[in-house]
Amino acid sequence: MAVGIYISIPFCRSKCSYCNFASGVFAREMVAGYVERVCADIRRVQPTASAMGGMIERKANSIYLGGGTPTTLTPEQLERIFAALRQEFELNSAAEITVECAPGSLAPAMLEALLRAGVNRVSLGVQSFVDAEAAAVGRLHTRAAVLSDMARLRAAGITNINIDLIAGLPHQTAASWHTSLAETIAAGVPHVSVYMLEVDEDSRLGRELIAGGTRYHAHFVPDEDSTADFYLEACARLSGAGIAQYEISNFARPGRESKHNLKYWTRQPYVGFGLDAHSMLEGPGGAFRFSTPDSLEEFMAGAPLSRTPVSSREALEETFFLGLRLTRGVDLKAVSARLGVDAKGVFGETLRDLESSGMLEREGDAVRLTPAGRLLSNEVFERFVALPSTP
Ligand code: SF4
Repeated sequence: MAVGIYISIPFCRSKCSYCNFASGVFAREMVAGYVERVCADIRRVQPTASAMGGMIERKANSIYLGGGTPTTLTPEQLERIFAALRQEFELNSAAEITVECAPGSLAPAMLEALLRAGVNRVSLGVQSFVDAEAAAVGRLHTRAAVLSDMARLRAAGITNINIDLIAGLPHQTAASWHTSLAETIAAGVPHVSVYMLEVDEDSRLGRELIAGGTRYHAHFVPDEDSTADFYLEACARLSGAGIAQYEISNFARPGRESKHNLKYWTRQPYVGFGLDAHSMLEGPGGAFRFSTPDSLEEFMAGAPLSRTPVSSREALEETFFLGLRLTRGVDLKAVSARLGVDAKGVFGETLRDLESSGMLEREGDAVRLTPAGRLLSNEVFERFVALPSTP
């Protein structure tokens, strides 16, 4: 089966206050060394897969450069990575090739490099069309820069554009969220991602919120109920505009769902390169995952990959908590056939509980999250971990 390829570029022009990724602002020399390391890892992908106990197809049908801000690389560095990829993998003509881009960072030379590299999809980290909201979390762009980037991308032939939005940013109100949604819909893009602000110890804003402080505009963060309302409004308005929800955080016009991200939710093989990059491949003993370190120092020092075998029990758990992210849900009959285990039997009680509490609904052999279940998805997913009995 053709693989998906993820490349992590963990460099940014500045660090957004809400960001909980392993990304940051680093010196040029560090970036150059990193690109060399990623290219070397791409070139030794076959022996790496063998050493991990599996195999990897040369055929690939999606590439995703994220991070981080891949457009902080020089055009030459970006092209070096693509040259290494094309040397090791056969990309079919329908391959989806996505690059994440911070609005305002798309220099003409970089746009030309993207085109030469065959990039046909760009994901713009807009987060808000209201300039004051974007500035409050450290984003360096304005609404005007976003519109200008979209016009330039389209003029260059890249029409498959995603807009990322965040519900729950400091200073966001019902009216300002309405504005961001209206601008997104008016932009006519085929794909939109809507995330709710994550509050955890891994971001500066998250830590400040947990501490109850006021730095990073933390005291202007809307409450949880308002953020949930913003999310529900996005679901309704985007769907009403023909951008249908197909995953908890993702919306697309027909046929424009992200091929790459669908691999994660449907457990198809993928391989990641760079910092904190994850892979899942098949081997003679079943599926296994492996990942690189999430510390740049350790990664550059050549710390070993960490390998995790996926037992048949874990494969079943993953099928549910990943598959339920999709609006179409999980087809119990198909899961049983694919994994050779009676999914209905194993999860019968859990499914009945979640249905009766209004978190799940069933249609024929498919189970899927209800709108209430989507808001409490993490709690639902926990119910599928640690099965009562091993299949
Ligand atoms: S641009 Fe993206 S990856 Fe970089 S700091 Fe901001 S949120 Fe994080």
